[in-house]
Amino acid sequence: MKKHNFSAGPCILPQEVLQKASEAIINFNNDDLSLIEISHRSKSFVNVMETGRDLALELLGLNNKGYKALFLQGGASLEFLMVAYNLLNKKAAYLNTGTWSDKAIKEAKAFGEVIEVGSSKDKGYSYIPKEFSIPDDVDYFHCTSNNTIVGTQIKEFPKTKVPVICDMSSDIFSRQLDFEKFDLIYAGAQKNMGPAGATLIIIKEDILGKVERHIPSMLNYQTHIDKDSMFNTPSVFAVYVSMLTLQWLKDLGGIKFIESVNNQKASLLYGEIDRNPLFKGIVAKEDRSVMNATFDLTDPSLKDKFDEMCIHAGINGLNGHRSVGGYRASMYNALPLYSVQVLVDTMQELEKR
Ligand SMILES: *Cc1c(COP(=O)(O)O)cnc(C)c1O
Repeated sequence: MKKHNFSAGPCILPQEVLQKASEAIINFNNDDLSLIEISHRSKSFVNVMETGRDLALELLGLNNKGYKALFLQGGASLEFLMVAYNLLNKKAAYLNTGTWSDKAIKEAKAFGEVIEVGSSKDKGYSYIPKEFSIPDDVDYFHCTSNNTIVGTQIKEFPKTKVPVICDMSSDIFSRQLDFEKFDLIYAGAQKNMGPAGATLIIIKEDILGKVERHIPSMLNYQTHIDKDSMFNTPSVFAVYVSMLTLQWLKDLGGIKFIESVNNQKASLLYGEIDRNPLFKGIVAKEDRSVMNATFDLTDPSLKDKFDEMCIHAGINGLNGHRSVGGYRASMYNALPLYSVQVLVDTMQELEKR
């Protein structure tokens, strides 16, 4: 039996996507060649790249609205640097909601002044700062939509006149948002879209070309836009699997459909965390992430018992991040509701014993 995979990333992918991906490794498109041994310039692969880029824009409702989709490499971590390299002239505003925001801020400081408009670092990032204002004279505002590590999520994005840049690595394609409010979205594939090795970038082309510095070709978004995301050899396997996952999502009914499933999973688990006296949540209730639910035992001496029961139930990847401790259940798009039910049953079983 397949395990119930609550891993925070790399994450669970749909079974049918894994099946198709494994077939493509041996015989792609019935060409008697492997996906990973053909030219990335071949018609077959160019088609994969174009389909993947189109699907990403279509699912977000950003077709024909001045946006380009790119599949690059280097993970979301390289985007921390590329965003600032391409867009930061003098000053930028950052909202610090977690370790990933903090890392983005660190990279940006090499290129100009960074104004931290809000931060929840004082309380271990256990909430989302809300009362803050974004100056009008900054080059852009940067935020992280979902704090994968501690388990908070921005529910309402601030209104501002400046370009909005968002790291959506761990909740892209999980909920409906007005994506036109964002000028650049980036996401490492391995959280909610595919295997590690590709980063999806959604960029409004007209925000580029405004910095004075010279930008090296590989780090310049314009290079990749001009070359249709094929300036150099793309990570063909990661792009292919991401494309399959986006196709799977579209066939299911898109973001609207998956959002309702994701909400069901989250309310089932948070409901049990709040009901069961043996468990407690870690972050502010109103900021709880629908993707990554963090919680802990009220009595730490039950840890060995609960961990053993989880193993017995086939539950994988429930350990909290090393910086937080406790438990973290990541409920990405491909995790079935049934897996969350198994976890909740296990929590109830612990209470009964
Ligand atoms: C995992 C994660 C990252 C880092 O992604 P890499 O692809 O490993 O560089 C950045 N931001 C968020 C929100 C993440 O969850």
